[in-house]
Amino acid sequence: MDGIIAVTYRCNAKCSMCHTWKHPTGRDQEIRPEHLATLPGMVRLNITGGEPFIKEDLSEILDVVKTKAKRVVVSSNGLLTRQILEVMGRHRDVGIRLSFDGMGETHDRIRGVAGIHAKALETLNGLKELGIKDLGIAVTISDGNAKDLVPLFRLADRHHIELATAILHNAYYFHKSDNKITDRCLVEQEVNGLVREYLSSPRPKNWFRAYFTMGIIGHMYGKERTMKCTMATDSFFIDPHGDVRPCNVMDFPFGNIKEKAFQEIWRSPEASEARRRVNDCRENCWMIGSVGHLMRRHPLTPLAWIARNKLLNKDGVAR
Ligand code: SF4
Repeated sequence: MDGIIAVTYRCNAKCSMCHTWKHPTGRDQEIRPEHLATLPGMVRLNITGGEPFIKEDLSEILDVVKTKAKRVVVSSNGLLTRQILEVMGRHRDVGIRLSFDGMGETHDRIRGVAGIHAKALETLNGLKELGIKDLGIAVTISDGNAKDLVPLFRLADRHHIELATAILHNAYYFHKSDNKITDRCLVEQEVNGLVREYLSSPRPKNWFRAYFTMGIIGHMYGKERTMKCTMATDSFFIDPHGDVRPCNVMDFPFGNIKEKAFQEIWRSPEASEARRRVNDCRENCWMIGSVGHLMRRHPLTPLAWIARNKLLNKDGVAR
């Protein structure tokens, strides 16, 4: 089992592609550490927001979830340097991904905060000094930052950390329905450049990143997913109110962990209905939260692609 928990919808950035910051949760509405006591055992758990480090009891939440998941990774915009270093200093076994939606001013413009790129770099350097091992940066690919993809890969490479990718999409969670890639040719060309960088990296994990990132292009052109979505069966999303949902795109809460134990929710008729809806879902999302665990479970599909594109086709990238 894998999971994603958004611990707060409070946020200190003003991103153009995500308007969660306009719809913050009240501190008293948000899940607390004791609400997470019945979570199942997990392989990987992503803690996200809003901005998770705004949440006053994040450290206590990490105390609980570390007993449930083999790997816990927090997603952050990196703005709250002091709080981030304080919490991560107490949880050096937890991973962290800092958002970098471009270099310099591009990142500042997309995130709506002057100086956020410099601040996120300061946080990144602080985390390295703390000795955090599971450290990386993450980009949401759009027309506005496609040209920065290879520079971002090189930034990650210089710091010996990974660059994770996602693509612009719409979700109730973002309060956005007009996110759109306008210049698909530009994005495809720049993503191809990034995929070539991943494939020529000496780190095998980057070859799998290449496969995942190539799938982003398929999603952009509306192609069907190569791996059937299994959210609500082997993975789940919990929002700051405690509502358990299949993912952060499908607006279908099927139980609340403030009211019932996770296992009771998971075995309920509402959970069966969620699985039916996922089975019929035509969104074809290609997000690491709904694809990563399938790549780990069915490695032959990405491995065959890697072999074709890395070993047999050194001149370019096929799909
Ligand atoms: S494809 Fe999967 S992750 Fe995407 S909306 Fe449907 S159920 Fe959610």
